[in-house]
Amino acid sequence: MLRINKMRKITVILLLLSSLIHLTVFAGNSKQNSSIDVVNYKFRLTLSDATDRITGETTIVMTLISEDDSLRFDLVNSNPDGTGMRVDSVKVNTAKVTWNHTNNRLSCKTPAGTNTGDTIKLTIWYKGIPADGLIISETKFGRRSFFADHWPDRASNYLPCVDHVSDKAAVDFIITAPDHYTVVSNGLLISEEPRSGGYKMSHWSEKTPLPVKVMTFAAADLDKQLAGSVNGTEVWSYVYPENRDEGFYDYAVALVPLNYYTSLIGQYPFPKLANVQSRTIYGGLENAGCIFYSENSVTGTGRSEGLIAHEIAHQWFGNSVTEADWHHIWLSEGFATYLTSMYWEMRLGEERLKSDMKNARNRVLRSARNNPSPVIDTTITNLMHLLSANSYQKGAWVLHMLRNRIGDKAFRWKR
Ligand SMILES: [Zn+2]
Repeated sequence: MLRINKMRKITVILLLLSSLIHLTVFAGNSKQNSSIDVVNYKFRLTLSDATDRITGETTIVMTLISEDDSLRFDLVNSNPDGTGMRVDSVKVNTAKVTWNHTNNRLSCKTPAGTNTGDTIKLTIWYKGIPADGLIISETKFGRRSFFADHWPDRASNYLPCVDHVSDKAAVDFIITAPDHYTVVSNGLLISEEPRSGGYKMSHWSEKTPLPVKVMTFAAADLDKQLAGSVNGTEVWSYVYPENRDEGFYDYAVALVPLNYYTSLIGQYPFPKLANVQSRTIYGGLENAGCIFYSENSVTGTGRSEGLIAHEIAHQWFGNSVTEADWHHIWLSEGFATYLTSMYWEMRLGEERLKSDMKNARNRVLRSARNNPSPVIDTTITNLMHLLSANSYQKGAWVLHMLRNRIGDKAFRWKR
């Protein structure tokens, strides 16, 4: 993702070298649920115009990877303020079972006779008002809208899941919502069917395993347009109706970085790319094949080209190649930052790359003065604090140094 920061000019170079040394430090956090590997999530949600309360039915297909008495998932409990989720029933394979839902963890017994390597299917029925993770609000033009916004581990505010970057799974979103909404999500649209009472059910499916942080969907009044295609991948723009002309113009530039990265890195990893104007709390959020941008990213002036290039770079680094633990975020943000600078180098020439790297260096040094820390900083407990100059600019510098060391020809993924 990207947050927009102003850069000041300071010129010192020393601390950059320390990044290489610190790369040997590895994060110690364990997986939140190491006894299972989720294979597929089916998230069925019903949304309404009358209330922010959602109704959910989630089916989780998983493989037992080590013996454990219980199956455990993240799901935020009902809170005194009226938000949170309340579970109505749970089924394991074909049998209804008892469950425990406390401390934002949902658990039930592992079925008797299940062995390592076996597949288990769990279905959870629940309802509630999401406190976060699904932003139910109005667009800046006053239209009601639903935008998922998961990064880093906010999905479990409304979706039962292993809300950790290490567990990747295929995902289906099956959204029943008033039929005036356009629904868009990861993967491809499988079906769209009318339902009684002015509702519509939209089924999107992504077979490529994703971390939950970049699973997403939107249900909002959105106009869509096919911007074009790159190597057979369709690129779509979804924008607010009020921003239709400016939005289609601004987002169509996505074809250029997609084409560039495909030639530099290799085949785009997902079946389509949608660029979506949204209510994300970030400047941009790289949801797999369904990137969300802040609503003010649309200006009609092409000003968001760098932002779009950054989020598209994440489709390879962060989404397809995913860090094993949160503290390795430079593999996502450092790569996206450097690939954006390489994109500008391709578009505007070497001077632009140099200027980008100089600005990045200044940010790193300024940040190091206040908070000297390694690229992989396992002391961070608030995951939002990972969005730092260490992860972005210092990570980018590690790659810049590597490129300088091995040369341009070797610094290409595609052969
Ligand atoms: Zn990013």
